Amino acid sequence: MPFVEETYDVCVVGAGHAGCEAALACARLGLETIVFTVSIESVALMPCNPNIGGSSKGHLVREIDALGGQMGINIDKTFIQSKMLNISKGPAVHSLRAQADKAEYSRLMRKILENTEHLTLRQAEVTELIVEDGMARGVKTFSGAAYHSKAVVLCTGTYLKARCLYGDVVNYTGPNGLQPANFLSQSLLDNNIEIFRFKTGTPARIDKRSLDFSKMQEQKGDEKVVPFSFTTDPEDVQIEQVSCWLTYTNSDTHEIIRENLHRSPLYSGMIEGTGPRYCPSIEDKVVKFADKERHQVFIEPEGLYTNEMYVGGMSSSLPEDVQYKMYRSVPGLEQAKIVRNA
Ligand SMILES: Cc1cc2nc3c(=O)[nH]c(=O)nc-3n(C[C@H](O)[C@H](O)[C@H](O)COP(=O)(O)OP(=O)(O)OC[C@H]3O[C@@H](n4cnc5c(N)ncnc54)[C@H](O)[C@@H]3O)c2cc1C
Repeated sequence: MPFVEETYDVCVVGAGHAGCEAALACARLGLETIVFTVSIESVALMPCNPNIGGSSKGHLVREIDALGGQMGINIDKTFIQSKMLNISKGPAVHSLRAQADKAEYSRLMRKILENTEHLTLRQAEVTELIVEDGMARGVKTFSGAAYHSKAVVLCTGTYLKARCLYGDVVNYTGPNGLQPANFLSQSLLDNNIEIFRFKTGTPARIDKRSLDFSKMQEQKGDEKVVPFSFTTDPEDVQIEQVSCWLTYTNSDTHEIIRENLHRSPLYSGMIEGTGPRYCPSIEDKVVKFADKERHQVFIEPEGLYTNEMYVGGMSSSLPEDVQYKMYRSVPGLEQAKIVRNA
């Protein structure tokens, strides 16, 4: 018998964006719900771009909002810049994108989870499904504790047997150095659930103080901000916004990348798996669009509390030394100091 045994209506594994919505939806229906995360500090973490929405995902967030979700409400309270994309095209493709204060967004979602009736937030790694008569009836955690339930919702994101790579450096971690979930995959396989490996990339984060913004184009937010949530008063989102900045890669950047392609795990065959369709790495872009003389690079603040700037458009798996050369070849980034490697 496990030392700890508890019973809920629903176990949700994962407190990323999907898990938070699933857990809140269940609890708001009055179901006793427990939501697990490997780290409470990473509730609703944005492991890559510090924004909510954008093309295709903007629609999704608004649909979730229409169903009573939380993401829209949260981003309306924590955005630092907002833009309606594609406005030169028809209304069907208009897409809202809000730059978030990453830490504030995460903190607010944690606060909502912690203060929702019928909802328990638990930091623990789920290692096993409890299956009875072919039905998921709860989960077990690394410590051996058992949580029985009528249903289990898996929202494990990018943590199952996760690896982070750049060049030939391999870390067996989830995003941002967080603990990966190394055991649940086997339990899924044991229950005949097919699993696939996916891969994705993220750019380096750079110290704002090392950038020369005079060589970049300022990108301001919309003058009249449209809220994400239908429940937000539009007047409440007309706040002072921060700027993002636009610069471009050039032939030097592309040359550095081409010369070092053999050192990119994406190209050396070190990473096998399906890549994201909409977030190609800069290596991918330079190879696939070889005729393009330059690619856009958006410099975006990660929040009001930090000097970290996200280098949008330059996701990479190249080694650290190549990253320095590559980023420093971009106008405005000549003295760039990397805070986190791509
Ligand atoms: C490097 C990188 C770049 C990305 N780039 C983008 C991008 O630009 N745009 C974009 O939309 N998406 C991007 N993504 C995908 C991004 O992960 C998702 O958009 C979003 O975070 C998915 O939310 P989620 O809730 O499905 O999963 P996640 O946010 O990954 O959350 C998973 C949750 O599950 C928990 N968990 C997992 N396994 C267990 C377990 N066994 N026990 C307990 N808890 C567990 C984790 O603690 C976490 O709380 C990127 C991801 C990474 C890692």
